[in-house]
This record gives sequence, C-alpha cells and structure tokens, in this order.
Amino acid sequence: MIRDFKSLIGDLKSVVGEQWIVTEERAVERYLYDETAFGVRPEPVRDVVVVKPGSTEEVSEVLKIANKYKVSVHVRGGGTGLVGGAIPTKPGIVLSLERMDKVTIDVDNMVAEVEAGATLGKLIEEAEKHNLMFPAHPGDEGATVGGLVACNAGGSRAVKTGVVRNYVLGLEIVLPNGDILRLGGKTIKNNMGYNLAHLFIGSEGVLGVITKAYIRLYPKWRYTATIVVPFNSRVDAFRAAKKILFEGLTPLALEYFDRKVIETSANYLGTTWPVKEGEYYLMIILAEALEDVLYVEMEHIDNIVRSEGALEPFVTQRDDEQKSLLKIRSEIFSALKEETFDILDTTVPIGVVDRFIENVIDIEKRYGVWLPVYGHVGDGNVHVHVMKHKGFSKEQLEKIAEDVYDVALLLGGTITGEHGIGYIRRKYVKKVLGDAWIETVKKLKSVLDPNNILNPDKVLPGD
Ligand SMILES: Cc1cc2nc3c(=O)[nH]c(=O)nc-3n(C[C@H](O)[C@H](O)[C@H](O)COP(=O)(O)OP(=O)(O)OC[C@H]3O[C@@H](n4cnc5c(N)ncnc54)[C@H](O)[C@@H]3O)c2cc1C
Repeated sequence: MIRDFKSLIGDLKSVVGEQWIVTEERAVERYLYDETAFGVRPEPVRDVVVVKPGSTEEVSEVLKIANKYKVSVHVRGGGTGLVGGAIPTKPGIVLSLERMDKVTIDVDNMVAEVEAGATLGKLIEEAEKHNLMFPAHPGDEGATVGGLVACNAGGSRAVKTGVVRNYVLGLEIVLPNGDILRLGGKTIKNNMGYNLAHLFIGSEGVLGVITKAYIRLYPKWRYTATIVVPFNSRVDAFRAAKKILFEGLTPLALEYFDRKVIETSANYLGTTWPVKEGEYYLMIILAEALEDVLYVEMEHIDNIVRSEGALEPFVTQRDDEQKSLLKIRSEIFSALKEETFDILDTTVPIGVVDRFIENVIDIEKRYGVWLPVYGHVGDGNVHVHVMKHKGFSKEQLEKIAEDVYDVALLLGGTITGEHGIGYIRRKYVKKVLGDAWIETVKKLKSVLDPNNILNPDKVLPGD
C-alpha cells in the first residue's frame, strides 16, 4: 500500500494536471505489462498510479515528489521490452512518457531532436519526409526513443551502422533527485568532459529518466536489394556468412534462419515462403547511395555464396518484394510467441556463431525439444526460443536456457546482446558480470538515487 496516497495524488495532480493521472483499475491495467514471454514474466503490482508528464520540467517535479514520499517510479516507454523492465513490481508511480513525443528534424545537420516518448515508427516517418533515415530497426516500431536508448537496442540492421548507442549524439536526462542533466547535442564529435551520455545509454531506466535524445540520421540509401541465399548445409551457410564479412563487405543486415522457422512465420502471416530450395538461409540486405556500388556488391556476394555451396540465390530490388520478405523474417518472434517460454538474445563473437548454433542443436537433441534458432549472424547476436514442452516444468525449461547461456559464455559471448537484464535476467548478473561490477553499479546507484526510487528490482540483483 502507498502511504499518504491521497496527498501523493494531490501533489502529482498539481504538477501534471488531473487529466494526466490514471488510477482507475482497468485503465491502469494496460501499463502493467510489457512483451516479456509469459513463462518468465513477473507478476506486476497493481498498487500504482500512472502519471503522464508533458515536459522535462514536469518529469523533474514528479521525481522530487517521489523522493518526498519515498515511492518507487517505474519508467515506461512503449512497453515492447522483453525482460520485464517496464513491469512495476513495487507500489508507486508508473511514469509514462507517451505525451512527450515531439520529433524535430534538423535537415542541415542530419540530426533528429526527439522527445523520449516518440515512437520508433514516428521517428522513421518524420525522417523519411526529409529524405533521411534512422537505419537501426529494432523489431517493434511501437518502441519509444527513450526505451531504445535506455536499452541500447539493436536489431537486424546493426551490422552496417551499429546499435542505438552509435546514433546518440546527445541526451537530456532527469536524474532521480529531479536535477536535469543536458549532455552532448548535435555535433558528431564532442570531447568536452567525460561522455556521461554513454552511462545512461543501456542503463535500463535505473540511473535516470531520458527525456530527449539527439539522434544521428543518414541520407536515405537510394538503392537497396535483398538477397535470400538457400543452402542445403548449415555449415556452408555460416562459412559463406563469415566470408562475406571477412571480404570487407558490410551489408545492412546479414540474417540466418532455417526453413522450419521461416515457414512457421509465413504460415502465421497467411502467406508462403517464396524460396523453394534449401533448408538453411542467409538473408542479406544491401543498401547503397550509388546503384553501381550496389551491383558490384551483389555480384561479389553472388560469387562468394556460390563458392561456398549455395543453391540459386533469390534476389530482389523491388520494394514490395523486399518488404514482404522482411515482414516474414520480422514476424518470427510473433509467430512463435504463443508457445515460447522465453526468448533469448545470446551473442557470441562473429567467428564462432556456427559453433554456438551447433551447440544449441546438441542441447535441443539432448532434451528432445524444439529450440528455434535464428538471428543476426552478421553481428553474432542469435535468438534462441525456449519453447514450452509438454511435461516440462518451469525449472526444466529454465535449465535449458541456462545451458544455452553457458555455451555462449564458454565461447566468449554474453547472455544478452539486445534485450538487456531488466527483471528476469538479474539472477545471472553475478555469474556473468561478477561482484566488482555489482558493487560499482550499487555505488553509482546510491550516489544518483539514494532513496532507490527509480526502477527498483531492475538490473541489479536483489539482496
Ligand atoms: C516484436 C518485437 C521485436 C523486437 N525486436 C528487437 C530487436 O530487434 N532489437 C532489440 O534490441 N530489441 C527488440 N525488441 C525489444 C524492445 O523493442 C526494445 O528493448 C526496446 O528498446 C524497448 O523500448 P520501449 O519503449 O518499448 O521500452 P519499455 O518496454 O517501455 O521499457 C524498457 C526499459 O526501458 C526503460 N525506459 C523506457 N523509457 C525510458 C526513458 N525514457 N528513460 C529511462 N528509461 C526508460 C524502462 O524502465 C524499462 O526498463 C523487440 C520487441 C518486440 C516486441
């Protein structure tokens, strides 16, 4: 129970206005969950009030009030997170930034000045109006820019231009005590002082609330092509992927999946996978400013994959065909979701992706379960779905996930390359990051947030 509930609500109303406070149970419900798989999703507390500030100053005042009443603040973006980061697990305030969604495009400087509550979809749309683009594409366009920065999101298109961190030129942060920190801006280079912005990128809302970001944009690549390369052998597919990278070709995306996984997605969408040959696939997306460069790259890639045993590549430059291939790839997650216990986003060094996947297949055989594997082979980030399996308990399914994690760690990788720690992966922090990491972050947290109001139960393991 929140103490002094009436008085807290009164204070919050005086800052954001009565219409931006939600207390009614049914209306609150839609702020309690994110996209975390059902098998591992924590149960939210319902004893929360949703507050929707309209400006950075209002966010600051809300945090000051939270300190006064010593209540928790759970920061919420689009609720598309996959590790329970936005799920409130202690009574308090759910701070939704949905009203702060302004996007201003500075064309001359190729920078978007974006309020944290703007969705990825809106950022893409606004940039495109000016022939600019935000190349990163984490799968769900309902994610907010605040959430993308807080989670340092990735996505399939991180091979060429990197993860969200690579796009952030500046940030506005409200610290847990309500102080406003303005970091960086529109310049590409900036060596004035320690780059504190990078402390907050990927901090999952534990150290501060992101209220605005300056995002680097790129001129829209005018020429794109999508190539689906079928193979009869998984080993050949990985050898070809490696060779593409080692030849110095950097596609926008370099994805791997097998027939069973991609057909599951196509069936889910009520369509068919157009590539008839092969059991294993590389999907390569190329994007260039010059048509000639695109053609040279396509030719080079064609030679490489054929030399590694590829069957006939399926190549398209048509926009609608590219979109429909990408849609089938992007919906793998949704197609598997209902039967998924947990979705893993393990990452290994690019040279050992093949060994990692072979090991996952060994685990699959050992337990007699289906572990769909697909992902961003171009940057080593591989998704493994631990599927529900008849007769398997929660503990047994967790053990399968842990076996997959162990393989990633043994190969010099890590257990998350995209989704972060959130609530559900805190139990692995000690093993992966160690005591010194935990102690350092605890010290940082206690300096910035002495009352531990911001996103409690997230990232740091419980005592
Ligand atoms: C279909 C699907 C596909 C996805 N594909 C990808 C992918 O390819 N790559 C990838 O990296 N992720 C992917 N995700 C995961 C998710 O979209 C990202 O983690 C995204 O960054 C979450 O953004 P959000 O606004 O929804 O944040 P939320 O889920 O609302 O919150 C996530 C975390 O960020 C914190 N947070 C949110 N906003 C702020 C803020 N303004 N200030 C401080 N902290 C904040 C929250 O407290 C929470 O800890 C996918 C999810 C789905 C459902």
